[in-house]
Amino acid sequence: MEEHGRGGYALVAEADPWARDLLEGLLRPRCSRVVAADTYEAAARAAARQTPDVALVAADLPGGAAALVAALREPGRRVPVFLTGTAADIRRLLETVSLPGVRLAQRPFDPAALGEALDEALEAAGLKRRLEDAWELTHRLLDDMPQPAAIMQGARVLGINRAWLRFLGLASRQEFVARGLSLEQFLADPPPEEGLAAWACRLADDPLDREHRLRLTHPDRPGQPPHVFQVAVTRLPGPSRCLLTLADVTELELERRELLDLANLDPLTRALNRRKLAEVLAEEASRASRYGAPLSAVLLDIDHFKAINDTHGHDAGDAVLVELAARLRSRLRKVDRLARFGGEEFVVVAPGIDLEQAAELAERLRLAVAGEDFAAAGRVTASFGVARHLSGEAPEAMLSRADKALYRAKSGGRNRVEREASPPNAAI
Ligand code: GH3
Ligand code: MG
Ligand code: MG
Repeated sequence: MEEHGRGGYALVAEADPWARDLLEGLLRPRCSRVVAADTYEAAARAAARQTPDVALVAADLPGGAAALVAALREPGRRVPVFLTGTAADIRRLLETVSLPGVRLAQRPFDPAALGEALDEALEAAGLKRRLEDAWELTHRLLDDMPQPAAIMQGARVLGINRAWLRFLGLASRQEFVARGLSLEQFLADPPPEEGLAAWACRLADDPLDREHRLRLTHPDRPGQPPHVFQVAVTRLPGPSRCLLTLADVTELELERRELLDLANLDPLTRALNRRKLAEVLAEEASRASRYGAPLSAVLLDIDHFKAINDTHGHDAGDAVLVELAARLRSRLRKVDRLARFGGEEFVVVAPGIDLEQAAELAERLRLAVAGEDFAAAGRVTASFGVARHLSGEAPEAMLSRADKALYRAKSGGRNRVEREASPPNAAI
């Protein structure tokens, strides 16, 4: 490993032994390594092996001072160069080429002034090297992290690590840049308006410390479901700079959803089960009471379902239940909830609509069932009872009135909609 404590590496390109000794003498106490070369070729070879931190190039260097300076000053290297020589040598060279950014050290040398200028150049080179080292170290640490991570500054992505690149199916940062990609392209959801980097940096200051998730897909693999990542953001030193790390919680998310489904859905029809129905009803009833908004329920029961089972078999009965639930769902608004109340009995919880509108909804549902043959059993009909929630009452009371209405629909001939009898205290 290179030694940085004492001054770095200096190159002296000088054919004159007297001048070379003097310059080497000035450099030795300041540098950990000094290489002297007496021709352009030797100096260029040394500079190609290792980039010097500072170079002293004689204006009359055999083989060409200008070519050596140009090589040392090329972008990406920008080695601090002192052009040495007599006033006449230096003038002669600068008359033929322009060497911007090069400092002059005229013979006879002033050791104190030249020493100070070298100290300055070496200190600047040391700082630059430490900065590069720090970046190198940061990238190595990032690349060693098993989770995808990125450093953001303001609205810019300063760097993404290997784990993130791997997820994107890329071999290197260069490939990411060469293909003109942006992280936003991989978001499964619409990207944050302010851009991903600014969004991430803002999360670092979230006073509520909420949990945030990002869903990432790969544009080249459109069919695959997105991966779900939990987002963690840490502020880094420096203006609006932060580290964004992602933890893949796709499996956990799937398990969580399966558990939720298991707890809330009827496995056959995927309608809400009774337990979830009770929860939804309690929520909707309290919301309706709080805001004085209407809430209605439609209860329905398949007509002569026993006969369907008897004629077509139990599996056909099951298929009818599945198809019926799908038909009902397709006719509902987003806010309506469908639950399986019992065997062949379903409830629709309909917030925001009154008895009249709920009866209309029930009529549409009746037609959705009776209007078209079922694949497994031909014609199927259902009977409907409709009730409206009264402010403050237990939601079960509404269901019980809907059940009475349903009973009337059955006894009145089936395949029909009946509303609850107007209660004396109805607020209509
Ligand atoms: P009604 O018109 O009066 O409602 O007559 P019904 O035959 O539909 O009513 P009943 O209550 O006599 O019969 C309901 C039948 O539903 C009895 C039961 O075996 C059947 N059933 C309940 N749950 C399921 C199920 O999950 N799958 C199937 N295939 N049948 C079921
Ligand atoms: Mg029935
Ligand atoms: Mg029944």
